Amino acid sequence: MEIVSEEKLEKWVEHVRIYANNGKVADYIPALKRQNPEINAAAFYSTNGECVGAGQTQYTFTLQSVSKVLALAVALMKHGESAVFSRVGKEPTSEPFYTISKIELERPSKPINPMINAGALAVTNMLYGENSEEMFKQILHFVHKLTGDSTIDYDPEVAKSEYETAFLNRSLCYFMKQNGIITGSVEELLDTYTKQCAIRMNVKQLAKIGAIFANDGVDIESGEQLIPRHHARICKTFMVTCGMYNESGSFAINVGIPAKSGVSGVILGVVRDIGGVAVFGPALDEKGNSVVGLKLLEMMSDYYGWSIF
Ligand code: GLN
Repeated sequence: MEIVSEEKLEKWVEHVRIYANNGKVADYIPALKRQNPEINAAAFYSTNGECVGAGQTQYTFTLQSVSKVLALAVALMKHGESAVFSRVGKEPTSEPFYTISKIELERPSKPINPMINAGALAVTNMLYGENSEEMFKQILHFVHKLTGDSTIDYDPEVAKSEYETAFLNRSLCYFMKQNGIITGSVEELLDTYTKQCAIRMNVKQLAKIGAIFANDGVDIESGEQLIPRHHARICKTFMVTCGMYNESGSFAINVGIPAKSGVSGVILGVVRDIGGVAVFGPALDEKGNSVVGLKLLEMMSDYYGWSIF
């Protein structure tokens, strides 16, 4: 299959810029409100180790919900499949990512999947350590291994801004604590979760993470198995069934690759055996996905024939 060319990527990134007018920057996390909707960037990192980028490739954004995939991989590696799925389900949902109704309706009362906020909070809770610092370190360390860049860190301002306003996530935690899905301090859990969501990187660094998933968990440079193949497969399957929230169905039709979005305006995509793709543009549609990112992935998938279906 043809590898993405930088020239084409530049053209597409320029072409989709105008779509930012059709969306709105997330404002429920005060620090995200300040993002400039005109910034956009894209990168593709092939399983051969080549990386191309276009737009503001040096701009760093926070991972937000993309971090849910990484926390899930860490929890699977630490505790195994059956322990993780005793706390969180495997089914997609047609509800928004912040849904509260799904945990109440499910019997036993556990969040329906690890890509909605409730499920991600339950997963992060499994990374328990001495305190939130220890929990967060496990995720950050994993990010350092995947990217090969140990300078990557979280943005304290974004984390604090979300922590101080996370009333809905706080209530999801208390509901789950009442039902025995999460244990320990809700505040420590929220501290870890908001830091994991606030991990900052650029499109090239994120595309490399995608390339490792595309390569069945094997690091492109060292050949080391960083994620067991089966765990990488579980993560990618969730990306297909619920990675784009309640827009996962139309995304599967229009793009057709495992992908995960975050409310900062980022989307991570995985093209099996070929590479990882990361696109960024802060203006979101009403489901919380980057309008520029969606359009860009649609064009790329169409041109290169990426759909798995
Ligand atoms: N930090 C965000 C939240 O929990 C992540 C949500 C998202 O990116 N969809 O609300």
